[in-house]
Amino acid sequence: MKRIYLDYAATTPVDKEVLKAMMPYFSDKFGNASSVHSFGQEAIAAIDQAREKIAKLLNCDFNEIIFTGSATEANNLAIFGITRNFQFPLLRQGFGGQAISNFQTNPKSQSLNSKLHIISTVIEHESVLEPLKELERLDHEVTYLPVNKDGFIKVSYLEKAIRNNTVLVSIIYANNEIGIIQPVKEIGKLLEKINAKRKTAGLGRIYFHTDAVQAFQFLECRPDWLKVDLMTFSGHKIYGPKGIGALFVRKLIPIGLIKPIISGGGQEFGLRSGTENVANIVGMAKAVELVFKNKEARFKKVLNLRNQLLDYIIKYNKGIGLNGSLDLSTSLRTSNRLPNNLNIRFPGLNNETLLVALDQKGVAVSAGSACSARASKASYVLTALGLTEKQAKESIRITLGKDTTAEEIKKSAGIISILYKKLKS
Ligand code: PLP
Repeated sequence: MKRIYLDYAATTPVDKEVLKAMMPYFSDKFGNASSVHSFGQEAIAAIDQAREKIAKLLNCDFNEIIFTGSATEANNLAIFGITRNFQFPLLRQGFGGQAISNFQTNPKSQSLNSKLHIISTVIEHESVLEPLKELERLDHEVTYLPVNKDGFIKVSYLEKAIRNNTVLVSIIYANNEIGIIQPVKEIGKLLEKINAKRKTAGLGRIYFHTDAVQAFQFLECRPDWLKVDLMTFSGHKIYGPKGIGALFVRKLIPIGLIKPIISGGGQEFGLRSGTENVANIVGMAKAVELVFKNKEARFKKVLNLRNQLLDYIIKYNKGIGLNGSLDLSTSLRTSNRLPNNLNIRFPGLNNETLLVALDQKGVAVSAGSACSARASKASYVLTALGLTEKQAKESIRITLGKDTTAEEIKKSAGIISILYKKLKS
């Protein structure tokens, strides 16, 4: 039986070209990038080239890209990195050990040891939500913006939530479960205006972070275009290797304001100590290159197949529901749902029952995000849209990939319909 994989939001296979680029760094070119000899030089040159390639494609500077061990770590670095400056004023080794006082950067509003305020959403990935909970335990304040039934936050709510002590806004670009795209550029523009006013008023800048892990493959992600200060992306969601992520950190963030969460040998401009994973870094750069080369084509292809799948499922399964808004737009810049995502509710059927039955027939889908897939809890993203726990547990996520075929779509639609009828009765 040829298995059909429709869980590309969980992870993607490593592209052949990516693997080829990585291979020498497991064997012949195995040097430690911190070594002075030629083996080390070869490694650091590969890292430099990878960073340069990504920076060029994202239209940013070489030293604005920090490689991490995962996107989870990049999200942690963004959130703790900014806030640790205020919590631990003596820890000042970020960006090569230069010191900076938070009074220098945030004269009135965000004084030493004062409560900080962060704005985010209820539908962030756990790698943002858990660090935020940790900050709340440390007595800081977090506003979690709600979403409407379609999955969108309201920019006006965000504006109203801003306080004098707000230091960070972190908004997911495209959600991993429902694929809904938040108006990140609009928020970036708004914060730009607000920050100009704050500067005149002597208030500290509000930094803007986005988790672009799911968006990166399909949407416009250049930080200048989005007007973000920090942006997270991941290797294994874009046909790169697992265990590599990156954080864009805008240079305007004062030296030393962002603190490392892992300290040691001072790699990655002091922001992420640890011997660099050269093969993964090279692989990630290749994957990013391929994304930029093929973004439009991938977008159109998966959009077309996703819409076909939806048509089949709607036609043959009465009463099913689609979770989150569905925009049929074909534009990279105006779409409001990722082109490869469907999140469908099959009333009267537990999603795990359907998932297991589908797997037995060779079709792999998901009951939620990969991280929470092992726990049989109702998805907090779906309940945030207003679904009951029961309805959330009736829902499955289907995500297509660049190599998904029309045959696979037709076949899986047939299998889904047969199983739904059988299992429901
Ligand atoms: N953010 C989002 C939106 C994700 O979908 C994921 C992975 O599922 C992550 C962050 C974490 O990525 P990583 O697996 O690289 O830690």
